[in-house]
Amino acid sequence: METKSIRLHSHLLSLPVYQPGRPLEEVARELGLPFEQIIKLASNENPLGPSPKAVEAMKEALDSCHLYPDGNAYYLKEKLASKLGVLPANIILSNGSNEVIEWVGHTVLDSESNIVVSQYCFAIYPLVARMFGASVKTVAARNHSHDLKGMLNQIDGATKAVFIANPNNPTGTMVTHEELNQFLEAVPSEVLVVMDEAYIEYLEHPIDLISDIQSGRYSNLLVMRTFSKIYGLAGLRLGYGVAPRHIIGAMEKVRQPFNANALAQAGALAALDDQEYIRQSRELNRQGVTQLQDGFTELGLEFVPSFANFVLVRVGEGMKTFARMQEQGVIVRPMDAYQLPEWIRISAGTREQNAKCLTVLRQVR
Ligand SMILES: *Cc1c(COP(=O)(O)O)cnc(C)c1O
Repeated sequence: METKSIRLHSHLLSLPVYQPGRPLEEVARELGLPFEQIIKLASNENPLGPSPKAVEAMKEALDSCHLYPDGNAYYLKEKLASKLGVLPANIILSNGSNEVIEWVGHTVLDSESNIVVSQYCFAIYPLVARMFGASVKTVAARNHSHDLKGMLNQIDGATKAVFIANPNNPTGTMVTHEELNQFLEAVPSEVLVVMDEAYIEYLEHPIDLISDIQSGRYSNLLVMRTFSKIYGLAGLRLGYGVAPRHIIGAMEKVRQPFNANALAQAGALAALDDQEYIRQSRELNRQGVTQLQDGFTELGLEFVPSFANFVLVRVGEGMKTFARMQEQGVIVRPMDAYQLPEWIRISAGTREQNAKCLTVLRQVR
């Protein structure tokens, strides 16, 4: 039989597939261990589990799941808008904040254009750019963090977007308010600046860029946030973008009509009301990051001090350490894909999970 190949977009030929943290079930199956004996500290999930209020709200919403969700997510947008001090028209809900990154591709990228990112940036930015045939200008990191001046210098006439995660994943670093404001003032207004704030809620004193969107100070700024991290709802796939109306309006054109499902909307609405859960999560995380970092110091391991809910730690042979820890029932994240082969990334878990993780790390070294 003759097999003919479909004529794939040429820029997809060399594009790798994103490798997420390994799922618990998969590793349990492989090791022949019960699910409960395995700890996943690989995807920066909230170790407290979801807010009980969110779970309750989703149970109630189940009875209506024969109906399409509100495609405009009226109540959730209203609640977010009043919490953030913007209008609902400044908000777009997404199937995880990863979907917002894809919309940047749909709205501004093509094979003639480029994006500017930092070395050790979140892996999805370059993947999405290449998916749309755009090229990627990567600026060397400084102390594992963004070199914003260097990034500014790389912006050229073909640059359509710059991506900055603050705090950054996988390094956990943060840029200062002053550096960021200087950068935002200097970026040409035709270039979209995407600020990825997936971990912003972990900070005690975060930089407030949303008020700069509200005031009109930056017309080219898009802030991305998510319910996957501190809100503990990663499995629901819900994130959002906040931006001036003209940017949101463009993204609404490429959004699938029912991308934010009904359970996610119900869960998120309730989770936003459970600020005690958020406070507890932030506190648990502060203790967890300290516990991990103290443990690494004791083991004599170099790490990057973290502002988020994970720590990047240098173990020598990252892939081997990852594999050995996994055999002992602790899933962490190898960093080969980030060109950090000597490092692994460990999410902060509960006190017990962190302790087990450190014990296992000591054993496998
Ligand atoms: C986890 C993470 C996200 C969130 O992804 P979702 O699609 O919302 O689950 C976005 N950006 C960064 C840098 C992240 O680490």
